[in-house]
Amino acid sequence: MSSKLQAIRGMNDLLPERSPLWQYFEGQIRTLMQQYGYLEIRTPMLEQTALFSRSIGEVTDIVEKEMYTFDDRNGDSLSLRPEGTAAIVRAAIENGLLHHQTQRLWYAGPMFRHERPQKGRYRQFHQVGVETFGLEGPDIDAEVIALSARLWQALGLREHVRLEINSLGSLEARHAYRAKLVAYFNHHLDELDDDARRRLDSNPLRILDSKNPDMQGLIEAAPRLIDHLDDDSVAHFEGLKRRLEALGIDYVVNPRLVRGLDYYSRTVFEWTTTALGSQGTVCAGGRYDGLVEQLGGRPTPAVGFAMGVERLILLLETLDLMPAAAEDVLDVYLMGQGEDIDLHLLKMAETLRSRLPSLRVQVHCGGGSLKSQFKRADRSHARFAAVVGEQELADGVVALKDLRGDDPQQLLDSDALVARLAQWIEARPAAL
Ligand code: ATP
Ligand code: MG
Repeated sequence: MSSKLQAIRGMNDLLPERSPLWQYFEGQIRTLMQQYGYLEIRTPMLEQTALFSRSIGEVTDIVEKEMYTFDDRNGDSLSLRPEGTAAIVRAAIENGLLHHQTQRLWYAGPMFRHERPQKGRYRQFHQVGVETFGLEGPDIDAEVIALSARLWQALGLREHVRLEINSLGSLEARHAYRAKLVAYFNHHLDELDDDARRRLDSNPLRILDSKNPDMQGLIEAAPRLIDHLDDDSVAHFEGLKRRLEALGIDYVVNPRLVRGLDYYSRTVFEWTTTALGSQGTVCAGGRYDGLVEQLGGRPTPAVGFAMGVERLILLLETLDLMPAAAEDVLDVYLMGQGEDIDLHLLKMAETLRSRLPSLRVQVHCGGGSLKSQFKRADRSHARFAAVVGEQELADGVVALKDLRGDDPQQLLDSDALVARLAQWIEARPAAL
C-alpha cells in the first residue's frame, strides 16, 4: 500500500476559493509600484548557499537554522532563498544595474525558512519588497516608508499598523557600541539564556532581538545604540524624522529595534500590528549601505523593505477588510443537446470570446440531459444559460435564459445574442 501523499509541513496550497484575495492584494501592489515608478525584478528561487551566509550573516537565525540547504547533483551547496535582498543585490551587480545608475526595484514571490509553523509563520511564505540603490539621503528612506504607508491606506489598514523606526548608525559606531553591550551582558551572565550566551561573542546586537520574555527586563536596561550614534547618522535619522513628519506619517522611535539580518546600517523600521498575536510584524526594512560592496560590487548605498503577504492577508481577513470575493465569475454557461452539439458549442463560445473579449463564458462539457446541464449552470453562478437544442440548431438561434434575474427567455440569432450580452457587460457589477 502506498502512503498518502501530502504537502510538506508549513507549505500551503492556495485553493481557488481564496485565490481572488491574493489577486486583489497583488493588484494593489502592482498599482502602487506603478504610482512610484518602481520596476519589477525576478530572480531564481535557488542560489549558492554562500550568497546568503555572506550577506544575511553566519550567526543569524536564518543562516544558522532556518535555511533549506542541500548539495545538488554536482555537489554544489545550494539554498532555497530565505529572503529577497541578497539575490537582488547579486543580480544587480552581475547584470551591471548599479554602474553609475540609481535603481528603484520591487519583487514578489515565495521565500523558504525552516521555522516552526504556526499562524502567520510558514516554511514557504511570500514576500513583496522594494530595494533602491545608489541613493544615500534620508529622502529615499522617507519615500520607501511613504510607499508602504500608501499601501496601508489603500487596503484600509492605516489605523491598524504602527511604524517603529531606529538607527543602527555607522559600522564604526556599532563597533564601539558593541564593546559596551558585551561588557553590560558579561556583567549579567547568569541572566542570559543559552542563545544569548552563544551570541555574546559572535553577534551581541542580536541579543536585543530576543523574543524570550524572561530576558526583556535585561534588554530594556541595556545601553542603547541610539545614544552612541556617529554625527552623520544622527543627522540622517533627524532628516528622516523631519520628512516623515512633513508627510504626516506617524512613527515611534524604538531604540531596541535591530532586525534579524546583519546587513543593515543607519535606518531600520518595522510596521507592526497587535491584531495577529506574536506574529505582529507585517513589514520590515532599512538601509544596507555596506551590502553591495560586501558581495563584490562597488560601494553603493541601498534601502528597502520586505512585507509578509500571508500576514497581511490574514490581517485583512481578521479585520474583515477583504472585499467579498465575487462568486459570479461567469456571465454565460453555454449548453445544449443534439448530434455533435459540443462541436457547435465550442465554436460558438470561441466566436463570443472574439467578439466580446470581456465576456466570461464556459461551455458545458460531458453531455447529459438538459436537466442535469441546467443544474451545472446553476452551480456555476453564471448569470445566463445559453441553450442550443435540436430546434435552435436548425433555426440558427440560441435560447438565452436569465438564471439570476427575471428577464423572460429570449430566442436570439448570433448578432442579437452579442448585442444582448454586450448590454449585460455594460451593466454588470465590477469584478473584484
Ligand atoms: P519575525 O521576527 O517575525 O521572525 P523576521 O525578522 O524573520 O520576522 P524578515 O526576515 O524581516 O522577518 O521578513 C520580513 C517579513 O516577512 C516579516 O516581517 C514577516 O511579515 C514576513 N515573514 C518572515 N518570516 C516569515 C514566515 N516564516 N512566515 C510568514 N511570514 C514571514
Ligand atoms: Mg524570523
